[in-house]
Amino acid sequence: MAKVLVTRKIPGNGVKILQDAGYEVEVGQQDSPMERAELLQKVVGCDGVLTQLQDKVDEEFIKAAGSNLKVVANFAVGFDNFKMEDIQNHNLAATNTPDVLTEAVAEHTFALIFAITRRVVEADIIAHKQSQAFGPEVLLGMELKGKTLGVLGLGRIGGRVAEIGKCMGMNVIYYDVKQNSEFEQKVGAAFKAVPEDLLKEADVVSVHVPLLDSTKHLMNAERLGMMKNTAYLVNTSRGPVVDEAALTQALKDHVIAGAALDVFENEPKLAPGLESLMNIVVTPHIASATIEARSAMGELAAKNIMAVLNGEPPLTPVHK
Ligand code: NAD
Repeated sequence: MAKVLVTRKIPGNGVKILQDAGYEVEVGQQDSPMERAELLQKVVGCDGVLTQLQDKVDEEFIKAAGSNLKVVANFAVGFDNFKMEDIQNHNLAATNTPDVLTEAVAEHTFALIFAITRRVVEADIIAHKQSQAFGPEVLLGMELKGKTLGVLGLGRIGGRVAEIGKCMGMNVIYYDVKQNSEFEQKVGAAFKAVPEDLLKEADVVSVHVPLLDSTKHLMNAERLGMMKNTAYLVNTSRGPVVDEAALTQALKDHVIAGAALDVFENEPKLAPGLESLMNIVVTPHIASATIEARSAMGELAAKNIMAVLNGEPPLTPVHK
């Protein structure tokens, strides 16, 4: 009987799908990522592993699992926890969960855009104190209609964020390593050939690139300095895409008006000084945290494992 490890409890039918397929399924029970030592011990003899972002899949992991291992299925669209070279050297299948979380992440991106531009979190704290009534100049924010949304990385999520921006009456500009003329015509978005042109124009910059060597600290001090001092930065992609120390300084110096982040360089920690600033809104990597998305992610990951263990191609493979 094939053995599958699900490294952490997941919502929805993912585990049931694997059990109904007749596999011996072990599920990590703790409400935190599995410790490395325990993970390396639990993967021994597994044919498939349903991994979380915090589970690093590298040579050590693959060696610990042994020769039965055929597939690692990530419960995420990003797979920066996978050392793809090691995975491919061992001819293992690797998969992710694209598409099923696009809507959830795009909607959360807008939740953050509204929260920072309309100062929702600050206002909530003040309202709880019951000391502030209506005031003509109290908690002024920025309207989105007619403003420019700059999307960095027009993939699945960036594309959906651009569409929602259009619905809000925003002008949409984007930068991506690949131009998408069809999308430009369909949605009415304008391509910028270099990120700098986008940064100078946008009132809201929303980041949706994958974490790669080429995108680490894409938003650094220099690029933050190119943004308007009235503009906002939103990041729901991966923490290291933004240089958090540089962002902290930029927010302190009012180089930009504010920022909203769902992801951080050293989760769950924030860069020193960030936690005390009021011109930032932070959420703990919850952009895909809807019942719909998380259930579908678990089911897709389970189906990827089943496909590979049945000798079929995985539904959503990832490559280097
Ligand atoms: P995707 O692959 O569909 O889109 C990524 C886009 O970025 C592509 O169009 C690609 O061409 C572009 N790109 C790559 N390198 C670039 C560069 N240097 N400059 C500009 N563009 C570049 O991915 P997606 O499904 O839209 O996911 C986007 C991001 O969101 C990923 O980083 C993913 O890890 C992250 N994500 C986060 C959460 C969360 O919970 N916060 C959930 C899902 C996805």
